[in-house]
Amino acid sequence: MIQITMPLNFLGTVYREIRQSLVDMGEMFDLLGQPAEISDLPDAAELKVDGGKIELENVSFGYDDERPILKGVSLTVGAGQNVAIVGASGSGKSTIGRLLFRFYDVQGGALKIDGQDVRDVTQQSLHDAIGVVPQDTVLFNDTIRYNIAYGRDDATEEDIIAAAQAAQIHDFIVSLPEGYETAVGERGLKLSGGEKQRVGIARTLLKDPPLLLLDEATSALDTETEGSIKDALARAGQGRTVITIAHRLSTIAEADRIVVLEKGEIVEEGTHSELLERDGRYAQLWHRQQSEDAEAA
Ligand code: ADP
Ligand code: MG
Repeated sequence: MIQITMPLNFLGTVYREIRQSLVDMGEMFDLLGQPAEISDLPDAAELKVDGGKIELENVSFGYDDERPILKGVSLTVGAGQNVAIVGASGSGKSTIGRLLFRFYDVQGGALKIDGQDVRDVTQQSLHDAIGVVPQDTVLFNDTIRYNIAYGRDDATEEDIIAAAQAAQIHDFIVSLPEGYETAVGERGLKLSGGEKQRVGIARTLLKDPPLLLLDEATSALDTETEGSIKDALARAGQGRTVITIAHRLSTIAEADRIVVLEKGEIVEEGTHSELLERDGRYAQLWHRQQSEDAEAA
C-alpha cells in the first residue's frame, strides 16, 4: 500500500502545482505573453522581501536581436510606494512586468527587489512575492468562495470575507440567494467584468503578497465600475509596493509617482500635478483622454 500511495501523493502534488502554474499563466496571459526558458541558478537563494523596494538599473531588453524594446530604463519604486507606468500601446509597459517576474532575462542592466537581483533568487520565491491583478480574471465553474480562496487551501472563513470586503465585492456576494456558495463561471452565474475583476482582487489579497502588479484593462469601464475598482485597488495597495500599468489615466492620478514610457525610454516622471504643470507628454495624454471621455459621455 505504502509503495502505491506515495507515488500517487507525489503525483497529486505535481498535478496541483502544474495546474496552479497553468492557471496563473492563464490569468496573466496578456501581461506575460509567451514565457521563455528561464531556470534557477544552482545555488539560487530564496527572495527575502523586506519592504519591497523595486529597482530597475539601466535595463535593456528586446524579444529578439533586431528590435530593442526597453532602452536603458532606470526606475526605483520605494518600499510601499505606488508607481504608475503610462505610455502608448507598444511602448514596453507590460514588458517591464514580465521582466519583474523574470519570464525573460534583461540583456543589459539589472532588476532588483530589496537589493537582490531577480536572476539570483528562485523563481518560486519571486512569484510568491508578487501578486498580479490581471485585466481578465479567469473564473472556475465553482462557487464564489472557491474562486476567491483558490490557491490558498488554508484560508479561513474570516480571511475570505476580509479579502472580499477589501475588494468591495462582499456586499454583492451576500446579496445573492446562495451567497458565497453561489456557482459562477460558464455554467453558473455570469459576473460582469467589474465583478470578476473584484473577485480577482480578493483572490490576490488573500495571497497577501508584498508586491503588487496591476495591468489595467484597456477597455473603458463604466464610471461606477471604474470607481469601485479604483477603491478596491487603492485598498489592495495599502502596505504594499505597487506598480500599476495604466491605460486609464484617471485611475492613477493619486499615484506617488507617474512614469511616462515612450518607445522603451522614460521620457517624463513626476506626480500627476507636476506632470500637468510641465505641460509635456503626460499632459498631452491627459487632455486627450479628458476630451475623449467628454465625447463619449
Ligand atoms: P505595452 O504594454 O506598452 O502596450 P508591451 O510591453 O506589451 O507594450 O510590448 C512592447 C513591444 O514588444 C510591442 O511592440 C510588442 O509587439 C512587442 N512584444 C511583446 N511581446 C512580445 C513577444 N513575446 N515577442 C516579440 N515581441 C513582443
Ligand atoms: Mg500592455
